[in-house]
Amino acid sequence: MDVLHLAASLARHSDSADHYTRLYLTSAHRAAAKELQSWMVESGLRVRVDSVGNVIGRYDGATRDAKTLLLGSHFDSVRNGGKYDGVLGILVPMACVAELHRRGERLPCAIEVAAFADEEGARFATGFLSSRAMIGDFDRTWLDRRDADGVSMREAMRDAELDPEAAGSDPLNRKALAGYLELHIEQGPVLLDAGLALGVVTTISGGNRHSVVVIGEAGHAGTVPMQRRHDALTAASEMVLAIERRCGVTVEGSRLVGTVGILKVVDGSSNVIPGRIEFSLDIRAGDDATRIAAEDDIFAELEAIAKRRGVRVEMKRHSESTVIRCADRMQDLVAASIAAVGLEPLRLPSGAGHDAMMFARICDVGMMFVRCGAGGVSHNPAETVTAEDVDLARRAVLEFMRRFGTVVPA
Ligand SMILES: [Zn+2]
Repeated sequence: MDVLHLAASLARHSDSADHYTRLYLTSAHRAAAKELQSWMVESGLRVRVDSVGNVIGRYDGATRDAKTLLLGSHFDSVRNGGKYDGVLGILVPMACVAELHRRGERLPCAIEVAAFADEEGARFATGFLSSRAMIGDFDRTWLDRRDADGVSMREAMRDAELDPEAAGSDPLNRKALAGYLELHIEQGPVLLDAGLALGVVTTISGGNRHSVVVIGEAGHAGTVPMQRRHDALTAASEMVLAIERRCGVTVEGSRLVGTVGILKVVDGSSNVIPGRIEFSLDIRAGDDATRIAAEDDIFAELEAIAKRRGVRVEMKRHSESTVIRCADRMQDLVAASIAAVGLEPLRLPSGAGHDAMMFARICDVGMMFVRCGAGGVSHNPAETVTAEDVDLARRAVLEFMRRFGTVVPA
């Protein structure tokens, strides 16, 4: 089972003909889910699809009452993303199970491999929809959210032959869950710079997503004098620069970052002074206090800019996550598994959010990173990994499964 070959095959299922985009429940997404199901079956996993479209494969343990080690990641993507983000964390554990199956080897714990249908939330502006459904925290208001074409999540679910009324009604059996491990491409340059293929994740940064609306006054571009204008776009521009400035303040070890990734001139036209701007704001940091202080400062600054320019600003928080620490025993086990394949286990934090953050609410979680090539870029079509690194990851994850089985609590 060649993981890179499977990743290339899965990448054919894209919403766009010229780049890789796979949003929740589109036809490309459904085709990818089907393909993952058939690969899981070939690998010796017993497959079920849950109420929100997660594909979950199970490989029983040596005994009937064996607890479960869950491994998983997501198969949706951002727009124009990279084809290993998420997907590696499904394919590598699947390849490990294929090897156990081929050898007829059963472990003291059962293994479940989950392919999460929606983590990025790029279609309906959700966050961690899949993992939240699996821990019993599905937000039913999401069903009324609409995508850019006006299709509601409820309608998208029906199109995908899922029952929206049942969404989130079948969470995992927590009592049987002994731990969660996620393998993910690093999405940064730390391992690349250190010359190491694999790493042990220590913490996952907390972050917030906000939507900001700036309301000015639309007017004729030819007749309203400059001094009389309440241009929402020039106000928003000043706000974006203020965000960059505040998040650029370095506090040792805090890794504070702020990004405006979407900015829209609503009903924009070349001969109209912009009356309404909508933009997104994503703020993250390695500790919650640094992030909250930055947010407070930014909101105050946005209000001040709006006041000075005679426009209004409205801010709404979409999602919030606090800093998560990977359990010590999981970190140590990831480190031992990396050492077992002959590598030095470097410990590093994750600046990006992952499904592991949700599972941390119900069990011990661990994460292993794989080196990201091409300067460490991700959420970008240039994202890449090498076959050698993926093979090391496969061996280390298999090592983890075997070792976890021997320490799993009774
Ligand atoms: Zn990801």
